[in-house]
Amino acid sequence: MTRLLLIGPPGAGKGTQAERLALACEVPAISTGDIFRYNVTNKTELGLEVKSFIDAGAYVPDTLTNAIVADRLKEADAAGGFLLDGYPRTTDQVAELDRLLSAEGTQLDIVVLITADTDEVVSRLLKRAVEQGRADDTADVIRHRLDVYAEQTAPLIDVYSARGLVVTIDGLGAVEEVTERILAALTERGLCASAPTT
Ligand code: AMP
Repeated sequence: MTRLLLIGPPGAGKGTQAERLALACEVPAISTGDIFRYNVTNKTELGLEVKSFIDAGAYVPDTLTNAIVADRLKEADAAGGFLLDGYPRTTDQVAELDRLLSAEGTQLDIVVLITADTDEVVSRLLKRAVEQGRADDTADVIRHRLDVYAEQTAPLIDVYSARGLVVTIDGLGAVEEVTERILAALTERGLCASAPTT
């Protein structure tokens, strides 16, 4: 049973690693960004509400984001563990996640910080803009997203470090290598036991 949070700047490779780790650890990957994009694409009420924030590279308000995650964590597949990708991103969201988990008598097992320098993440995001056509992958919006991350999300690393939960993984290199680095760190801590170690 693994309750894992992936954190890192936009473009560090969280989404890609989340999918691979979810498979290896047999837990659902829960990405607030994916949930929002799904709703935007399908023009749901939520999608219409969040679209302007996402397109501008701003964070969706905490009340909305917290409600989405509270609902998602109640689903049966998350009872045996989960991988959170892109949530929490603010101190209010940390408080809400703490509340949700402690109500279940659980807590996070590990916070994996994926690092990558700014030049690298900007070039990855510009490449993704061409490949996937995400509206928030333009140069101006990317710059804003990096600023918002530095202001609002980077401070969470200290919060989780103080709890002894953070393991820092170098996000540079081949996708497979980064996955292996993370899996090695997890198995070292007795997490994600089903993962192959080589
Ligand atoms: P991501 O796919 O994680 O890069 O998220 C894409 C966008 O969705 C972000 O730039 C925000 O606009 C929004 N978003 C995703 N997760 C959150 C969150 N935890 N809090 C607020 N906004 C979020």
